[in-house]
Amino acid sequence: MRVHLTATAAAAVRRGHPWVYRDGIAGGGGRAAGPGDRRRGERAPRGGGGAAASAATGDVVELSAEGAPFLGRGLWDADSPIAVRVFQRAQAPALDERAIAERLERAFALRDGWFAGRDTTAYRLCNGEGDRVPSLVIDRYDRVAVVRLDGGMLAPWLDRLLPHLARALGARGVRSIGLRARGEAPSGDADGKKLAHLHGPPLPDRLFVRETGVAMEVDLARGQKTGAFLDQRDNRARVRALAAGRRRVLNLFSYAGGFSVAAALGGAGRVTSVDSAPAAHATAQRTFRENGVDPAAHDFVTADAFDFLEKARVRGDRYDLIISDPPSFAPSERAKPRALGAYRRLHAAVARVLDRGGVLCAASCSSHITAEDFLATLDDATLERDDLRVRATHGQPEDHPTLPAWWEGRYLKFVVLE
Ligand code: SAH
Repeated sequence: MRVHLTATAAAAVRRGHPWVYRDGIAGGGGRAAGPGDRRRGERAPRGGGGAAASAATGDVVELSAEGAPFLGRGLWDADSPIAVRVFQRAQAPALDERAIAERLERAFALRDGWFAGRDTTAYRLCNGEGDRVPSLVIDRYDRVAVVRLDGGMLAPWLDRLLPHLARALGARGVRSIGLRARGEAPSGDADGKKLAHLHGPPLPDRLFVRETGVAMEVDLARGQKTGAFLDQRDNRARVRALAAGRRRVLNLFSYAGGFSVAAALGGAGRVTSVDSAPAAHATAQRTFRENGVDPAAHDFVTADAFDFLEKARVRGDRYDLIISDPPSFAPSERAKPRALGAYRRLHAAVARVLDRGGVLCAASCSSHITAEDFLATLDDATLERDDLRVRATHGQPEDHPTLPAWWEGRYLKFVVLE
């Protein structure tokens, strides 16, 4: 099956961008090409758009463009706005499960090295596009691996890939493999569970993992993402180091309390965790106990973060370390202006309860907001103060690798102001 690309889409593929959007297909997104469909100056695709029209989700397609008979190979998706995810750019014998399994083995072997001796049992084993296995995310939670597929193109491959996964992960101590329901939809089965069993002993609903020496409860069945926000691991360790000697810490959007327990273990006096979901606090409190920290010595507030901040300001409460890690405010490019406004309002409210001499850690997990965009929501005019400097900016850890041309993969910003 051949897919003929527009000049723009072909250039992106050459740079190593792993996605071809439907409008990057010459002759119209997989529909049989009519004369009016083509961009001016592009010749009629020879079996390009027309061939793609008959492809099924998961089919291997060959990419070509004007003057480039072979650009690479990828997998077709008949439904998603991303029509092709590109797996190979060079001529390789085939794009089959062996080729994919080899890339997975490379991704796993890299983690063996990266996490050796770090007292960390939860990490991303494969970061999809960033590990050159587009659409496939695999997170490890100690003896359990959770698979998530972005888009549908690898779903027809899963049965063939599973024996390899079981073997390669089994050799590394993973016993069970589960499949996370697609997307971030809160729906699950009748039970609210979002995890299906694929291989090995039954999956636990919850389990404890270790992260940089800290115990952390993970809600595999009902938690967010594949269970935890593994991308903040190094930033949690940073907060632990920043917390020494702090009297009052505020962790906004605290979820399972990862930053909270890091601050408590780092020596903070009293840590206040704020999240709108009460279930998150129950998880956080079990994590506190597992680490030998009494949750009764700290505060867990179920509230909207904006409401909490306004009430704290009125009460005159002040904090000397604040962490703010909200859910993505900008799920799309179109939502960006509104999202920037929301970050500004949030940061202005945070600044009003931050002590002089305090530290603010502000995070954003939206790929549509660049680091510069995000810093602009923390400027002097927004915060209405001029005593802070950017001490450091961090991103995602090495187990969430990206590609130079795949800017969408670099989504996490973590700015430390002091
Ligand atoms: N910092 C966390 C991840 C945060 S995820 C970690 O490191 O693990 C975002 C969290 O924000 C979710 O738990 C969600 O319940 C919560 N949330 C979403 N909107 C909120 C709001 N308006 N006020 C308070 N919490 C909110």
